[in-house]
Amino acid sequence: MTNTLDTTATGSEPIEQTRRVVTEIPGPRSRELHERRLAVVPKGVSSALPVYIEKAHGAILVDVDGNQFIDFGAGIGVTTVGHTVEPVVQAAAEQLGDVLHTLFTITPYEEYVRVAELLAEHTPGDFAKKTVLVNSGAEAVENGVKIARKHTGRNGVAVLDHAYHGRTNLTMAMNYKASPYATGFGPFAGDVYRAPNSYPFHDGLSGADAAKRTITYLEKTVGAEDLACLVVEPIQGEGGFIVPADGYLPALQEWCTANGVVFIADEIQSGMARTGAYFASEHFGLVPDLVLSAKGIAAGLPLAGVTGRAEIMDAAQPGGLGGTFGGNPVAAAASIAVFEHIEQAGLLAEARRIEGTLKPLLLELQQKHPIVADVRGIGAMLAIELADPETHEPDGAAVTAIIQHAAKNGVLLLSAGTYANVLRFLPSLAVTDEQIREAVAIIDEAIGDHAGKAVLTTV
Ligand SMILES: *Cc1c(COP(=O)(O)O)cnc(C)c1O
Repeated sequence: MTNTLDTTATGSEPIEQTRRVVTEIPGPRSRELHERRLAVVPKGVSSALPVYIEKAHGAILVDVDGNQFIDFGAGIGVTTVGHTVEPVVQAAAEQLGDVLHTLFTITPYEEYVRVAELLAEHTPGDFAKKTVLVNSGAEAVENGVKIARKHTGRNGVAVLDHAYHGRTNLTMAMNYKASPYATGFGPFAGDVYRAPNSYPFHDGLSGADAAKRTITYLEKTVGAEDLACLVVEPIQGEGGFIVPADGYLPALQEWCTANGVVFIADEIQSGMARTGAYFASEHFGLVPDLVLSAKGIAAGLPLAGVTGRAEIMDAAQPGGLGGTFGGNPVAAAASIAVFEHIEQAGLLAEARRIEGTLKPLLLELQQKHPIVADVRGIGAMLAIELADPETHEPDGAAVTAIIQHAAKNGVLLLSAGTYANVLRFLPSLAVTDEQIREAVAIIDEAIGDHAGKAVLTTV
């Protein structure tokens, strides 16, 4: 709310931090670009909202037709510090002129080491930690599993229902949802075991009971002695911003520790200040053996990491970890600036401010519209689940209708959830209270409309 007119780092025209719709959505230039794209980009790569973006700053996306959207997706939790924030753009630009690439496994550079130091400092746990940097979240998951297997000498990988871990071969096997991520893409990696999770809205179980169910399942279907690791998202992302019941995750961690199973927190979506802590693990008192980061770690430059206990990380033999672009100097320089910006701009507090503004508004929506069956999340990682209030039967059509209505009104919203019936809010931490209120008013309107239509069609 403070600075509605914010300048971009490159000194180009400032982007007013307001929504503005000047054409139909998508506009004519976006539709033209979409035609070109259909000829050369495969159908497997889809776009939630085919408006083509020309510029972005703070919490605003500007498309090629001059429409401005308040961005509640942040590229799925990537531009957490805000779009094109000045110190990050500057650090990356300076690095571009210094050195673009050497390959850390040939001739190393300081920026990689600095990111590793920052991750050691900011991930939970007060012990010696080491980090390997890679290019993507899925690659971080793959490396976490490799390291856990080498360390334990075991093969089994445990994951949870509603999990999402990526689109590579191993991670496809680790996801809950086959369609669209895995359908037709097999054969898949073996030795992956998926256990029931904690999903309070649907299972009604206490943390202790849900943990008992998960642990019993793993003990009976695999056996701890064959498990290298358990990979959990502290708050499940694609699965629908599912916050587990109190005590669930600590019980899983305790069981892992007691049984020599490496406890891996996939913080790719929940990490990097999004929830008002550097890592969501902190909210649950977890001290994971390994923490996976990606998405928000470099504000849009491709970077990911596996950070963990030095003795586990050192299990891999020299040459066993790495890759051509992993820990690229420009991405690493941007990441250092992200860490600094989180401190300097007090972004952990901003995430809590966003929760303080948005959550009560979502609870009001729930009071008003029974279809808003659950409100959940922490910090700037909030969601509503749309379902029949009695039966909990998912209502994905309502989510689609809301997203379309919002887009037409200059608000970018994303769905989530195994049944695509969750509306998730993961704005950049630059989003203002006023922008939040505008977005919720539009959602309120859309739910009202949708409910009206639903009534009409059933009459
Ligand atoms: C996005 C995501 C991944 C995969 O990251 P990519 O960079 O897309 O490979 C893995 N785990 C979680 C929790 C994610 O949200």
